[in-house]
Amino acid sequence: MKRALVFGAGGFIGSHLVKRLAGEGFWVRGVDLKQPDFSPSAAEDFVVADLRDPSTALEALDRNFDEVYQLAADMGGAEFIFTGENDADILHNSALINLNVLDAARRSGNVGRIFYASSACVYPEHNQLDPDDPRTDEASAYPAAPDSEYGWEKLFSERLYFAFARNHGLEARVARYHNVFGPEGTWTGGREKAPAALCRKVAEATEGDSIEIFGDGLQTRSFLYVEEALEGTVRLMRSDFAGPVNIGSSEKVTINELALSIASIAEKTIRLDHIPGPLGVRGRSSDNRLIHEQLGWRPTRSLRSGLAETYRWIEAKVRDLITPAAAAAQHRRS
Ligand code: NAD
Repeated sequence: MKRALVFGAGGFIGSHLVKRLAGEGFWVRGVDLKQPDFSPSAAEDFVVADLRDPSTALEALDRNFDEVYQLAADMGGAEFIFTGENDADILHNSALINLNVLDAARRSGNVGRIFYASSACVYPEHNQLDPDDPRTDEASAYPAAPDSEYGWEKLFSERLYFAFARNHGLEARVARYHNVFGPEGTWTGGREKAPAALCRKVAEATEGDSIEIFGDGLQTRSFLYVEEALEGTVRLMRSDFAGPVNIGSSEKVTINELALSIASIAEKTIRLDHIPGPLGVRGRSSDNRLIHEQLGWRPTRSLRSGLAETYRWIEAKVRDLITPAAAAAQHRRS
């Protein structure tokens, strides 16, 4: 039986990845600071431990693994990454995790291949000032000028994986994810990303309400449904191409369009209230030429179909939170 190890298995993408690998027949071990938030892990073995401690990765690699996926990171949405308040933690914690994982991979000799989840946040801000024409071809990451410490750590760690591949014979694969979303992702609490935050705001709103949007809402992004991110991930892992390569959608929308699309899925009329807030770059979308050239594949699922599934899941969560008393009060108001 093939074995897979997922670091960050308690997180959003990691928990979906464990499900997929277990479904493919892998024996899966997951490692994370916490169990998945919304459903039990599909991993055969789940270790709750801190990867900043060097012994965690080494102990997890006590046997041979065909596929190792490294998704653990100290991360969140714009309110976590772009305010500056978490910069030291972001750089320190995620770099330490990657240093420890690679050192354990080298020392144990038990890693067939290792995948590292990098990010679109590595791309320089100056190439993403035009919301209609952002540049994110893989080579454009250099000369480097990410707009966040999160992006700098990702760039450093990409280099670390490739250096270990060159010097210690590891088989590394590196992908740059662009805004992955879907059910069972963080949807409240400050670390949620735009699609989940907007789904929550729309679900909480009543007909005709307004919801808050950071900035003028004309900044562009693309969003990738989690199932497609997993498809790209395992295809890259099992290919001869090392990367780095974008795994993202090329369906670019403004944040206003994203909000209105969610409102239309919810069949609500919603007004947008633009307020100051952390923004990130002005425009970003995934350039999918390289992945298509190397893997003969690129994501194709429409944004709207992924949003519909995500909205249904978040709406149910919001509904669960409404206590009978609050529901009664809401009923009296309407
Ligand atoms: P997530 O925050 O849901 O998952 C990360 C997991 O890492 C969490 O469960 C967290 O508990 C775990 N972790 C953090 N510090 C740890 C530690 N010291 N020891 C053990 N576990 C620790 O994030 P996600 O959205 O699932 O992202 C997975 C990976 O993909 C991350 O590396 C992220 O940077 C990258 N990525 C994600 C996106 C996206 O849109 N979701 C975009 C670009 C890159």
